[in-house]
Amino acid sequence: MPITVVGSIAYDTVKTPFGERERMLGGAAVHFALAASFFDDVRVVGPVGDDFGERQLAILRTRGVDVSDVELVAGGKTFFWQGEYGWDLNSRETLDTQLGVFEGFSPKLSEDSRSSDVLFLANIQPDLQLDVRGQLPHARFVALDSMDLWINIARDSLVRAIESVDCVILNDAELRQLTGKPNLVSAAREVLSWVPAQSAASASGEGVRGPSVIVAKQGEYGAALVTREGFFALPAYPLETVIDPTGAGDTFAGGFVGYIAAHPDDELSDELLRRAMAHATVLASFNVEEFGTERIQRLSGDEIAARIQELHSMTQFSGVPLQLRG
Ligand code: AMP
Repeated sequence: MPITVVGSIAYDTVKTPFGERERMLGGAAVHFALAASFFDDVRVVGPVGDDFGERQLAILRTRGVDVSDVELVAGGKTFFWQGEYGWDLNSRETLDTQLGVFEGFSPKLSEDSRSSDVLFLANIQPDLQLDVRGQLPHARFVALDSMDLWINIARDSLVRAIESVDCVILNDAELRQLTGKPNLVSAAREVLSWVPAQSAASASGEGVRGPSVIVAKQGEYGAALVTREGFFALPAYPLETVIDPTGAGDTFAGGFVGYIAAHPDDELSDELLRRAMAHATVLASFNVEEFGTERIQRLSGDEIAARIQELHSMTQFSGVPLQLRG
């Protein structure tokens, strides 16, 4: 079932201990779309300036991504982000963010983009996320990402946006910050208890829903899944060489949401979500092997399938029939 994603399309300048790249293709919507394109049709909604080239669009088109809702703002500048990573790649400093055409962005979705039944609201101002959510009132599955900036300056809007979606994908530190709870599981449980105000629920024509799936990303330590039914966690796929973590979170989300979109007839069971977690983990592992989108651009379905098998065998263990003392 087609997926619509709304979010940043960017030029990224990135420095890691292993090299640097200037103004490479990036942005949350781009990383998400490339990953999700392995699973289903993807439509990208977001603005670019006239410094954005046909060559960049071609990278998305090559993977079959529909770019007809990429809005070219004449005379505008594409969103620009610059970051630098510390020696173990765990810390990242944002050196520059230039909103460019993102300033004053008002998402305009075509009929096609509004007809998708899966929606990913990448990290943008939460009122914009709510606006787009309202344009797809009947979407079967809606997921959202955010960042510390919005928790700091627009928490009320972000809570309303979260109440309107099915799935929240955040870094574990953001989840704790959002809820003020120091414990990850209780922070996730808190978000699971949020439901839209009666008026918002009836305005959308849907029953009261609220988020039912929380994914906490933990960087090199993997990711955890919390639902009302249970808990699941996977380590990151162990890599000896990590070059650039930029976009890993969005690539993870692309794998996760993409896998769910590719199973339109399955109910949203924990079993399905666990398999989605595995695919998300594997997609993210490829993303960090090279700068920006370089590795994902030449990734194949066979490579993904092989790594899923490896991740499966390295995370399963059999029952331990030992008579324990005590
Ligand atoms: P991640 O590494 O998953 O956090 O995603 C990094 C991507 O998000 C980069 O490609 C950036 O272009 C983009 N990005 C960074 N800051 C922002 C922001 N404030 N709003 C939207 N996108 C951003």
